[in-house]
Amino acid sequence: MKALVYRGPREVEVTQMPDARIEAPTDVLVRITSTNICGSDLHIYEGRAPMEDGKAIGHENMGEVVEIGDAVVRVKVGDMVSLPFNIACGFCTNCERGLTAFCLTVNPGFAGGAYGYPMMGPYQGGQAEFLRVPFGDVNCLRLPEDAREKEADYAMLADIWPTGWHGTRLAGLRPGENVAIFGSGPVGLMAALSAQVQGAEEVFVVDRHPDRLALAERIGATPIDDTDGPTADQILERTKGEGVARGIEAVGWQAHDPQGHEVPNSTINDLIASVRATGGIGVLGVFVPEDPQSPDEDMKEGRLTIDWGTFFTKGLHLGCGQANVKAYNRELRDLVHAGKAQPGWIVSHHLPLDEAPEAYRHFDARDEGWTKVVLHP
Ligand SMILES: [Zn+2]
Ligand SMILES: [Zn+2]
Repeated sequence: MKALVYRGPREVEVTQMPDARIEAPTDVLVRITSTNICGSDLHIYEGRAPMEDGKAIGHENMGEVVEIGDAVVRVKVGDMVSLPFNIACGFCTNCERGLTAFCLTVNPGFAGGAYGYPMMGPYQGGQAEFLRVPFGDVNCLRLPEDAREKEADYAMLADIWPTGWHGTRLAGLRPGENVAIFGSGPVGLMAALSAQVQGAEEVFVVDRHPDRLALAERIGATPIDDTDGPTADQILERTKGEGVARGIEAVGWQAHDPQGHEVPNSTINDLIASVRATGGIGVLGVFVPEDPQSPDEDMKEGRLTIDWGTFFTKGLHLGCGQANVKAYNRELRDLVHAGKAQPGWIVSHHLPLDEAPEAYRHFDARDEGWTKVVLHP
């Protein structure tokens, strides 16, 4: 089968690899119809999250079931399914509590597994014609009859929409509250959509890319351009000096200042300054245990200097980590089906798999207009 594989920093290639196949009786084999390039894939692409040569990338997958193992009960051949990026067993301590991002079974010695990602287990990615889905009954969300018609919307269910939603839950957002979201990449925009769906009073989105801020505006969010001055000052100014009730980090450890320097602690400290006393912060952006290539001395060993004294004095709380996609994807699917939300509004490009290397180049360069790429193998 054809797949997009990692070769080395800024080098990916569409090549032939052995066909994905049923390896365990609980497996499901899916023919991929949509597979998205994610901001997290750029950490691989840039060589900052090193992956083995020749492994297929891709954790945001959807497609049609073409074969099932003997022990699969619920999923049927012909079903259109969305596949949460977290691979979960469904029966370990964490999965039983709904914490499927921290499954203890699928990636022994580590809490959590995913498709096509370093450290997340031996699973190939879905930027390929076919994908093996372990524990298929647990890891396939069946889609309704409008799956093909609303494919761009349903394709957002594998990761970024549940992840954006998770940010609002980590921050503790309630209807009528305001929220500031740092980062208007796909995840930040999905957090903004989630906050709107949940009845936020005002949603601020902080970034500097005009095309992305324009997308935020299209769903009624208030854009804040961080090249216009310190973001916390801008947020305080627009909230009568009070700050926002909730904050969401959707950038991660490679956060840059407007001059282009990497400052890994900048978004967290801006959030601590922007969120009012007793408020909450949800961190979705990826932070890693070490990054020897980081220009920041602390970050080389995974450390951040944060304004802890202010954080404590304000009585803030903070939640972080990967989204337990299965905790949200069923209801979000139903919102799409009912026409109540169109997360596919952020998709800028639908491309064949063969054009993936070029798409990575543009997305990595944050070229104007390249907000979200969906590949169709
Ligand atoms: Zn993703
Ligand atoms: Zn599990």
